[in-house]
Amino acid sequence: MSQGVIAPGGTIGILGGGQLGRMLALAAAAMGYRVHVFAPEAELPAGDVAAEVTRAPYDDAAALAAFAARVDVVTFEFENVPVAAVAALAQRALVRPGAKSLEIAQDRLAEKRFVTGLGGRPAPFRAVDSRADLDAALADLGTPAILKTRRMGYDGKGQARILAAADADTAWAAIGERPAVLEAFVAFEHEFSVLLARGVDGATVYWPVPVNAHEGGILAMSQVPAPPAVQAQADAALALAVRIADALDHVGVLACEFFAGADGPIFNEMAPRVHNSGHWTIEGARASQFENHIRAVCGLPLGSPDLTAPSVRMRNLLGDDVHDWPALLADPHAHLHLYGKGEVKPGRKMGHVTWL
Ligand code: AMP
Repeated sequence: MSQGVIAPGGTIGILGGGQLGRMLALAAAAMGYRVHVFAPEAELPAGDVAAEVTRAPYDDAAALAAFAARVDVVTFEFENVPVAAVAALAQRALVRPGAKSLEIAQDRLAEKRFVTGLGGRPAPFRAVDSRADLDAALADLGTPAILKTRRMGYDGKGQARILAAADADTAWAAIGERPAVLEAFVAFEHEFSVLLARGVDGATVYWPVPVNAHEGGILAMSQVPAPPAVQAQADAALALAVRIADALDHVGVLACEFFAGADGPIFNEMAPRVHNSGHWTIEGARASQFENHIRAVCGLPLGSPDLTAPSVRMRNLLGDDVHDWPALLADPHAHLHLYGKGEVKPGRKMGHVTWL
């Protein structure tokens, strides 16, 4: 077998223990792999379906070394894993995707500069490292604008909207006075994402682009096919996503989120991993994002991203939505996925449901 191929029967290490890891582990199991989850949290939706679990902080060098010794390849389901942990693992094990994908995706500023360098167009932005920088950035970009922390932001967390310059103090305090990026508020009719999988050999497959609806900064719904206004921008967005994946020598799934602006796609952010806007691929595509991520990190050929139905819709079950499960199960055409999380909190991703 050629180098870098992990044959079925091997063990895939996953950093992070959430629902993305859970669905990766299920796809891996279907293909005959064992999964070993490494994560610090007490509750691990991925750990519940994995062969092995290491519950340890990401800076526990001994635990990382023991984990590396027991797996054939390491991947991640969460991009805020410390780069130092991934670098330490890379000394001892194959890590796919590599640290570069992680480093760029962890820092909104680096990400926007990187994507701009590849010909992408993010919303106009300025680096903000101090309260004074924020005033200067607001003078440049005007209002409304959005202040986003450079690091550790997700699902609308670490963000503050600034409707008028007088809101600057409140916004700066709201994000914890941390290094940030100020973005101009862009006008768009739709949000969409490009989901691609790139193999070890650089071969790339991509799914039809979903149109995404957010509520309170959190994904609520994804649907394919996207409306014509989005489809008209899909090729340009896809070409950019492929340039990003190639430039990172990315292996695995890469998700890039876009706004459909009046003059073409506006890059919002990327995730070097499987993504919530691709959950519909489990039933809605021949090969799901989870299967193709496993195939990619194991050095295998990628499966077909073709649709299995003319249209597919995925709705997230956020917080109390999870209590709707009896009604959803009563619909024989609803594919219900629950993540096995104990505590229900507003906005928490508890599960999702897909209709073909
Ligand atoms: P993000 O965490 O960057 O994906 O932002 C969460 C959501 O806020 C996005 O999905 C958009 O709905 C909205 N948003 C973020 N940035 C902008 C922007 N520059 N202009 C308008 N809306 C935005």
